[in-house]
Amino acid sequence: MYSIGPLTVSPGERAQGLIPVGTSSYGVELGIPLIVVNGAQDGPVLCVDAGVHGDEYDGQEAIRRVLAEIDPDTCGHRRRHPLHEHPGLRGGRPRERHRSPEPQPHLPRRPDGSYSQRLAATFVEQVVPVVDAVVDLHTGGAYGEIAPLVILQGGYEDLATDIALAAGHELVWKGGKWGGTVRHPVLAAGKPAITIECGGATYREANVERHMYSIRNILRSLKMIDGEVELRDTYTAVSGTFARSSAGGFFVSHSEPGENCKEGDLIGQIVDHYGNTLEEVRADWDGIVLWVRRIRTVRPGDEVVIFGAVEGEITP
Ligand SMILES: [Zn+2]
Repeated sequence: MYSIGPLTVSPGERAQGLIPVGTSSYGVELGIPLIVVNGAQDGPVLCVDAGVHGDEYDGQEAIRRVLAEIDPDTCGHRRRHPLHEHPGLRGGRPRERHRSPEPQPHLPRRPDGSYSQRLAATFVEQVVPVVDAVVDLHTGGAYGEIAPLVILQGGYEDLATDIALAAGHELVWKGGKWGGTVRHPVLAAGKPAITIECGGATYREANVERHMYSIRNILRSLKMIDGEVELRDTYTAVSGTFARSSAGGFFVSHSEPGENCKEGDLIGQIVDHYGNTLEEVRADWDGIVLWVRRIRTVRPGDEVVIFGAVEGEITP
């Protein structure tokens, strides 16, 4: 038997339900929606989550589809493999982001705090202890679009590199000086955790399929389903720097997520209502554009680009 939150699932069975977190102003129960698929044989427990940012949809759909194709009785090595979907803020308004000069914690957790803080605390208390690895699916959010990449927390390479490479994206962002993500409490517990990013707020089938590929390949790497894990010959390690506007206006981008740039290249510009250039955003070094703003209006201090510096190669 496998237990998580209020669910208890026998080997070879699947179940779904809500880990309660709180109630809405209408008194309706809210929580973390969970789908559990328990393989017939023992094995690791992989948690795949999506929708931590409520305006990111592709990963949520990818989880539903991969789960639908898994037969807990007959698949692969029939390992135990619950996967969880917790689109925590689904249906909520897009998060308030890009309003602070520094990246903010995504999930500041407080059991007696706001709904989001309680949700984070519930995840740490009830999910992290009963899983062996976490894959956290994201997109570039409502404001922009991100190149397909995996975030591998610096300092935890020994723990998480294997599943990071199995995600299948060439770009590996060795990052995250920001705290409070889903990854942190999992890594702190000595378990592998990665974040996979691709796309933006506009739902795209191609990005759902990218996330599905990553989930399947990570399942193969953990020997939870049949098949050889597919690895690239080489991966590119990058770091990311947020470029922010000084001027308010209309942002015109001249580059796409994933595009290579040379030092001095024009990445984008901010213009006023008359077309006058208020500000140019140029590459500070030879690198790769990781994220580009898609919402055209900008206020001073808004993120307009995340610019990546190549830190080296990773060979599996
Ligand atoms: Zn996100």
